[in-house]
Amino acid sequence: MKRILVGGFSHETNTFNPVPTGADIFRRDIRCGAHAVAGNPHGCISGFAEVIGQHGGEVELLGSVSAAARPGGIVTDTAFNDVAGLLHETLARVEADAVYLDLHGAMVTESHLDGEGTLLERVRRQVGPGIPIAVTLDMHATLTPLMVRNADIVSVYRCYPHTDMPDRGREAARLLLRTLRGEIKPVTALAKPPLLIGPPLNILPQDMPMQLTYERACEMERTVPGVLLACPAQGFMQQDVPEAGVGVVVTADTDQGLAQRMADELGDLMFAHRREYWVHLPDAGDAVRLAMNSGTPPVAISDGGDNIGAGTPGDGTALLAEILRQGVDTAFAQIWDPEAAERAAHAGVGATVTLDVGGKSHPLYGPPVRVTGRVSRVSDPNRMFRSARLEVGGVTLLLNAVAVGPNTLDHPQAMGVRPETYRMSVCKGGFAFRVAYPPDVYSYVLSATPGFSSTDLSTFTYERIRRPIYPLDEM
Ligand SMILES: [Zn+2]
Repeated sequence: MKRILVGGFSHETNTFNPVPTGADIFRRDIRCGAHAVAGNPHGCISGFAEVIGQHGGEVELLGSVSAAARPGGIVTDTAFNDVAGLLHETLARVEADAVYLDLHGAMVTESHLDGEGTLLERVRRQVGPGIPIAVTLDMHATLTPLMVRNADIVSVYRCYPHTDMPDRGREAARLLLRTLRGEIKPVTALAKPPLLIGPPLNILPQDMPMQLTYERACEMERTVPGVLLACPAQGFMQQDVPEAGVGVVVTADTDQGLAQRMADELGDLMFAHRREYWVHLPDAGDAVRLAMNSGTPPVAISDGGDNIGAGTPGDGTALLAEILRQGVDTAFAQIWDPEAAERAAHAGVGATVTLDVGGKSHPLYGPPVRVTGRVSRVSDPNRMFRSARLEVGGVTLLLNAVAVGPNTLDHPQAMGVRPETYRMSVCKGGFAFRVAYPPDVYSYVLSATPGFSSTDLSTFTYERIRRPIYPLDEM
């Protein structure tokens, strides 16, 4: 029986966020041994394990380690060595016939600008050239030559929001099985057009012009003999690393030249439309005005600079300040502010409190906003983190001791908030919140608020990125 070693290590690193991501954060969500395989049912590993499970007599899975942390600042060396160390330990202990790694593709550590490339290079060195390595990556992976050179099969998410992770795991499993049986000999090639893309408009796989690239990629897989996988990756623009920007990785059977030609074709296609991905987004004041005048409420407003899913703190006050300043009649917002949450909770339900909320993590997210409101609900400390619901006129504020992203409504609902009953809601996300705030209920206003995930590139200083690159340079 053949044995496949399975591991996972994920982080999307925002190098403009000065707060490092330490080992303690990964340790909160680390699974070892068999637990590394039986993890998140919506993740890549579950899809991978499902397919392998259908071939039980043929292959067995050996779980190593699976660890993930929420997007944030640079990963510390201790954190990286912690998780990578466990992976290398397992690899040294067992004799694996193949390796499958579920990675993000945009990890930057204190010592390594290309976290996944470094990891894959070390794994390759450890197992030797004859052992196939399959990898699944996030749509926002920053593809690098080091990563692609050290992986035989690379599958990248194609859906935004990322609902296709199990499918990518299944795909990787099928190809790895065929490789182990000797039916195929996968090779990979990379294209890196000099292009940064950012705001979540026109770049979704289902939106023009990005749709063209994804359609052609699928067509290649269906119609070009020898192409096993054709995967565009969008990169993560809040990263100052040499390879930041988009990329394409193609996995082909045996034919390196074919893989390279197909990758280049997709890269050229993405680059040809470079001027169409960038759209101007309104600032906080204009965004609130647009939402206020919308004929189709409720409106979900994106807080582009404080996109928690892109590694920001979640305490930005730009939109809240405008909502209060413009006297919006009904609105809903959440702010990460442990201190304010504690004070409101301590005052208790029914109390009226005056608090300076949010804007404490970094000057870009401030200043704090002074509000006076009535505490209408306090979280049950036995069931969740500290959270207090404050009614400031018609504005409902959730003050949370942890940063709560907008991609599910679990927390607001637990606090009795139904966002659809407000004229507007502030969503501290890019655009993946469309699942929780669906288009049949909400209209959308995307905004370019300040912060580490701003969609305004002029707010960042890039020092390491390769030049020239569009749109930093005219090309
Ligand atoms: Zn992503």
